[in-house]
Amino acid sequence: MGPVLVFIFGLIVGSFLNVCIHRIPRSESILFPPSHCPRCSRRITWKDNIPVISFLFLRGRCRFCGEGISFRYPLVELLTACFSLYLFSVSSSLVEYSIYFVFAASLIAISFIDLQHRIIPNQISIPGIFLGFLASFLLPRITWADSLMGILFGGGIIYLVIAVYYLFTRREGMGGGDLKLLAMIGAFLGWKGAVFSLVAGALAGSVLGLTLMLVRGWSRRAQIPFGPFLSLGAAGFLCGGERLVDWYLSILRQG
Ligand SMILES: [Zn+2]
Repeated sequence: MGPVLVFIFGLIVGSFLNVCIHRIPRSESILFPPSHCPRCSRRITWKDNIPVISFLFLRGRCRFCGEGISFRYPLVELLTACFSLYLFSVSSSLVEYSIYFVFAASLIAISFIDLQHRIIPNQISIPGIFLGFLASFLLPRITWADSLMGILFGGGIIYLVIAVYYLFTRREGMGGGDLKLLAMIGAFLGWKGAVFSLVAGALAGSVLGLTLMLVRGWSRRAQIPFGPFLSLGAAGFLCGGERLVDWYLSILRQG
């Protein structure tokens, strides 16, 4: 019964994340007013608000005006539910599961906001830095010193990348939002997690960037938001990447 409940819980949290993704960039309250269709403003009743199922049942359209509902809604719900289930299965305690699930949910919200609006909201990243640091006192996998180093390293290294990139190109490659995001990732995952997220994120971003250039033609001005890739790197670290880093470090020590 446990896994089913944890999955359903993830779907419900995902539904709430969809509200955050829609409202935070518009500076709207995430609690009031209740969910409504952005086109006809009709209130969405509970039976049209069931994660994934309502989307399928309504065939992705508003019941009243037929306005298309973004595929993002069921996607975010399913993604959040999968993370909930995975983290529950690997965590050693309910506290550990809760902390990493809050972290994963924040990354999902940040990624989709960055994809749509090209911003990483301070309302999520800055509290995330503090929360990650406080959580390090409760987590067996990380010490507070490691968390603090993750914050300083995560923020510092991105600051350096921004400064060097600007020096050469006079353009801003990454923004201050990326800096606060990697500091938040460092707070939750420690310095190794921050480095892993940056390297893995930059690799994944480069592969996609090059592919887009080849497919759509060369355009260096085309900007790809970096937040989703940093988040992807952090998720990779949570889902096995940490063991990869430890294995790599152990080889370096032997060599
Ligand atoms: Zn409508």
